[in-house]
Amino acid sequence: MKIAFLGLGNMGTPMAANLAKAGHDVTGYDPATPMPAGVTGAISAAGAVQDAEVVITMLPNGAILRSVAAEVIPAMAPGAVLVDCSTVDVDSARAVAEQAAAAGLAALDAPVSGGVGGATAGTLTFMVGGPDAAFATALPLFEVMGQKAVHCGGPGAGQAAKICNNMILGVTMIATCEAFALADKLGLDRQKMFDVVSTSSGYSWTMNAYCPAPGVGPASPADNGYKPGFAAELMLKDLRLSQQAAGSADADTPMGALATLLYESFVEAEDGRGMDFSAMLPRFEKRSRG
Ligand code: NAD
Repeated sequence: MKIAFLGLGNMGTPMAANLAKAGHDVTGYDPATPMPAGVTGAISAAGAVQDAEVVITMLPNGAILRSVAAEVIPAMAPGAVLVDCSTVDVDSARAVAEQAAAAGLAALDAPVSGGVGGATAGTLTFMVGGPDAAFATALPLFEVMGQKAVHCGGPGAGQAAKICNNMILGVTMIATCEAFALADKLGLDRQKMFDVVSTSSGYSWTMNAYCPAPGVGPASPADNGYKPGFAAELMLKDLRLSQQAAGSADADTPMGALATLLYESFVEAEDGRGMDFSAMLPRFEKRSRG
């Protein structure tokens, strides 16, 4: 397939390289990064998309997505599909889908989970919103870049699934970390805490698969000095998107709101920037009730 790939950063580079390795004809554009192996460079985003059947974007945020979409939609070939894999606000995803539809093109919002490791290994999960026919066109590409693609519904449904999942993740990580810090102060051994909770009703992905306590449970960023992994500032980005969406939809999300405040303070006022999001545990360890 002829593919244009816009945004070749930490995630886009290995995703585009995997598409090229699978035999697709990939043209890339990024104002700041070199082209990955097998990808032909274009001098502009509009130049990259001209004969592409699928245009994939992997960009930092909704404002940049909106400006890139405004530039490339008029240059896209009839029948081409725009697939945005960035994590952006639901409103931007829906606005881009409307703009594409007005130009007679289909668009999908297809954010991912799995991080740079999943992008490199081709094991991402795609959460996808948009029309059935566009999903069918993009599915073979999702199968190269990932191991699972869930068609969640219409425009914005992929972003909605992503931020709801990550709101649960942020809240649960904080709950797991504060419980470990409480267990420490109660004199409970961390391994015993893990043995009980991981097989009891407090279990979760954050406890069982990504345990924030070093040396406990399967290997995780906690065992590597809390080097990310999934950086605290990316968790904060996703929590903020969840609260923006909750505001637009008039949804009451008190736990999500508190998790957003805690990660905001951790990243912006404490030493959390550049640390894995599970470094909330050493944060709580150092704190007392007052
Ligand atoms: P990144 O900052 O490394 O890459 C973004 C790239 O977009 C940069 O190389 C930048 O130069 C490029 N860009 C900016 N403006 C552009 C334009 N006008 N045209 C073309 N390219 C442009 O970010 P990343 O870590 O690759 O993340 C990309 C997206 O994926 C974000 O929305 C992020 O939230 C999401 N995401 C990241 C991870 C992760 O672990 N890094 C995991 C899941 C989702």
